[in-house]
Amino acid sequence: GLGGGILVALALSGIGGVWLTRQAMQPIEQSFQRLKQFTADASHELRSPLMAVKSNATVALKYPEGMRETDKEKFQAIASATNQMSRLTEDLLFLARNDKIPHRNRDIIDLTELLENLVQLYKPQAEAKQIKLSIQVTKNLRLLGDSDQLRRLFGNLIENAIHYTPNSGTVEIKDRRISPHWYIEVRDTGVGIAPEQLKHVFDRFWRADRSRSYNSGGSGLGLAIAQAIAQNHGGLITVTSQVEVGSCFTVRLPTNATSVL
Ligand code: ADP
Repeated sequence: GLGGGILVALALSGIGGVWLTRQAMQPIEQSFQRLKQFTADASHELRSPLMAVKSNATVALKYPEGMRETDKEKFQAIASATNQMSRLTEDLLFLARNDKIPHRNRDIIDLTELLENLVQLYKPQAEAKQIKLSIQVTKNLRLLGDSDQLRRLFGNLIENAIHYTPNSGTVEIKDRRISPHWYIEVRDTGVGIAPEQLKHVFDRFWRADRSRSYNSGGSGLGLAIAQAIAQNHGGLITVTSQVEVGSCFTVRLPTNATSVL
């Protein structure tokens, strides 16, 4: 977008001592736009062939009679890899489009209810690791926004918190109001993130080395998406963390878009 263009202009002016005029910026703007469109088109085109592979593998696994054990394993590997690939293409598509929420999609959302529903959804995943997943959020916290996007934002944070927390830990969701902002915290007692790595967590495709041992098949796009969604709502996500102690992701939302009714 324009921000990127301006950054390039600033960088170039620093190096070459020239200031790019608006006119000179135009081709740069256009190539950013083309790159974005290309990513969107490519991920969109990948959808149907992927779906075909995925459904064929799924159907084959439905009738395993007469199938050799080794073939069954191969189909399972295909199904799981295509699952991961479709998640990746969906994520790429989302980021390339980075839909600014059209006004017609802005609904009044009960954020408290949305968060409580997410907690119910992730309870089994937490219980499987004996993780205590708790929520303590102001009642009737209303917000103008897109419910699918907000579910995705907080879903990503909760999923990460559970995923990067060893057995018997805790994951807590809380809110705080410091005018003019609302803060929603997702705090875990997980592996944490090293200080020098913290600045990278919201980068696309970035994953800490230590997270490889957690082998989630994650894409490294989850937090980039969460950040884009927060920004779409006039907000921001920040993180504090301590290795082997835990992490706290805080979503800041403007109070003018939120209210307690
Ligand atoms: P993914 O989880 O798919 O790898 P994300 O964008 O969601 O991608 O996260 C990027 C990286 O940030 C993760 O790979 C992990 O290293 C780190 N990370 C995210 N959330 C947490 C957390 N709650 N605790 C520790 N590390 C985290």
